[in-house]
Amino acid sequence: MAEKKRLLQILDLMKMLPRNNCKECGFKTCMAFATHVLREGTKPELCPYWQPEDLTFVKQSLADQGEETAYPDHLFSARKFVQGKIKDYDFAQVAERIGARFEPGAAGTDDCLIINLLERFYRVSKNDVEAVDGGEHDLWDHVLLYNYVAENGGRPLTGEWVPMESLPGSLAKRKAFVKGCEAKIAAAYTGKPEALKAALKVLKADFSELDSNAEVAAVFYPLPKIPFQILFWDADLDDGFPAQIKVLFDETVLDYLDIESLVFLGEKCAERLLELP
Ligand code: SF4
Repeated sequence: MAEKKRLLQILDLMKMLPRNNCKECGFKTCMAFATHVLREGTKPELCPYWQPEDLTFVKQSLADQGEETAYPDHLFSARKFVQGKIKDYDFAQVAERIGARFEPGAAGTDDCLIINLLERFYRVSKNDVEAVDGGEHDLWDHVLLYNYVAENGGRPLTGEWVPMESLPGSLAKRKAFVKGCEAKIAAAYTGKPEALKAALKVLKADFSELDSNAEVAAVFYPLPKIPFQILFWDADLDDGFPAQIKVLFDETVLDYLDIESLVFLGEKCAERLLELP
């Protein structure tokens, strides 16, 4: 069977670009430019700083992969759809409701929201998303952040913790959340509660005052108005029990994010916790 060809990724382009964010291409950052080249058909020649052989390679690869991209079509539609939902939003008002920082656009530029996603900061305008530090991000992050903005906040947090299975509409999603978030973290940190604590500290977790018998119990905020209470019981080798993670949410969580996006946020948390020391 023929080997499936590998599609160009944003990181591939970033390795070839100078990453100095000079804006000559018309985009604020090299990352934004690379994203638009891959996802929106922007011409790579707009950056004058490619090495000639890199430009040739990129153009050839884009021609070879044609309409094919690393993302499914529905993701582009989802982003367009949710961008449509927020087009009339007043970002100055939204900012307070979702715990973001409002950044008014200077002449000719869009108003933005600066949103903290797992201690990485993103600048979200109605047309685009960029990482404040110029770091890597992808279309899934865009859709997640736009969905968070589109929900436009809700009731104040109550401090009442609930499991996913008690949230409306969670029946079909619970399994995906366990697999993509809880089970992954539990497997990675089996026998390493101190390492989990250290990783959670990077995410500014609060370890105080939780009434739980878990070996690690903490609250952290993957998004500014969405706290996760994370509980970890290490494996019991004598009794043959594997390590276990349970995540609880504030009962208002669905005021801030739809259930699908919440599952994705759980996967992002696992991804982030697994890459931390
Ligand atoms: S012109 Fe090239 S180097 Fe400058 S911001 Fe655009 S992609 Fe980056």
